[in-house]
Amino acid sequence: MKRFQDALINKLPMLVDTTLRDGEQTAGVVFSNREKLRIAKMLDNLGVHQIEAGIPVMGGDEKEVIREIVSYKLQASIMAWNRANLEDIKHSVDCGVDAVAISISTSDIHITHKLRTSREWVLENMIAAVEYAKKEGLYISVNAEDASRTDMDFLVRFAREARTAGADRLRFCDTIGVLEPFKTHRIITELIEKTDMDIEMHTHNDFGMATANTLAGLKAGARFMGVTVNGLGERAGNAALEEVAMALKHLYDVNLGMQTKDFRNLCEYVARASGRQLYPSKPIVGANTFAHESGIHADGVLKHPETYEIFKPEDVGLERQIVIGKHSGSKAIKMKFVEYGIDLSDEEAADLLKSVRAVTVDLKRTLFDKELMYIYEDYLYEKKIAFSSEKP
Ligand code: MN
Repeated sequence: MKRFQDALINKLPMLVDTTLRDGEQTAGVVFSNREKLRIAKMLDNLGVHQIEAGIPVMGGDEKEVIREIVSYKLQASIMAWNRANLEDIKHSVDCGVDAVAISISTSDIHITHKLRTSREWVLENMIAAVEYAKKEGLYISVNAEDASRTDMDFLVRFAREARTAGADRLRFCDTIGVLEPFKTHRIITELIEKTDMDIEMHTHNDFGMATANTLAGLKAGARFMGVTVNGLGERAGNAALEEVAMALKHLYDVNLGMQTKDFRNLCEYVARASGRQLYPSKPIVGANTFAHESGIHADGVLKHPETYEIFKPEDVGLERQIVIGKHSGSKAIKMKFVEYGIDLSDEEAADLLKSVRAVTVDLKRTLFDKELMYIYEDYLYEKKIAFSSEKP
């Protein structure tokens, strides 16, 4: 909890990871308790500030594992998710968490068609739940579900009343992922101006803009960033922890002192635990993010990595790969053979390049090291025959 408290006092930007709650809520994803415990530890070692660990009112395993995570006394704060009712919050208190998310819809479409009630009912229930949690000494994030489709005047009223009741921050939920960065910036600026409340961005990736929207919110003054590992989450997912953290560091010059070299490990672990493989071009941690095939790129990277890489592969636990394929140049081929202790002449490299291109087009993929060696052996063999047949 110490990391969270220190950042709170120093008003630093914070990462709130909800892999274990929103991430697990993804259709078809279930973590075992052992996996949840390991993920919580990994997140803490990495340096996130708050871990939303689950939904205590579900009882059983879910409640038990939250208790166990609390017992680890991590550097991160442990938050539990609740609907805006006292029963849910009692279960959270049972678990010993230091923070709660209290969630209720604020948009008219949700209030009318899902809750089938009124704005007044929403305010009353939110206030009662927040006051109760406050008495229990909990840190409170009030979640305005579907905030991005909520009438601004009502959202401002909701935030102000939440604060009066004792809420510490407002989670601005782009529940169905309809924001874009410019609109996000405008809304969050206005919300902070009118309420002076700490804001947490909770964005979804339905149009591929979850990370961008989270960062736009930060630029507008939001201080908390809700994220999940690999962007796991409902439908198209949430803002990805690894993307937001690395973008902060390299594009915004905000260094949260995270152990970023552990990203690949964590992301691979969560990919396996969630049964969702990391796709090759996944930003930050995908296998292709530091693979270079085209002759021009490979040549540039070999001379000076910064020509085509924004940070070092080892910064996120990856390795640079020069892949031999259709777009390779002779320099990359020569470099590859140096790895095997073979010094190709320019002529040999040019000859091999022709074979490499033919084979990769045939196979429709890049080549494994072994295949490259077969091509080389065949080449030597043919050369020898050609050489011997020249002699009478
Ligand atoms: Mn969500």
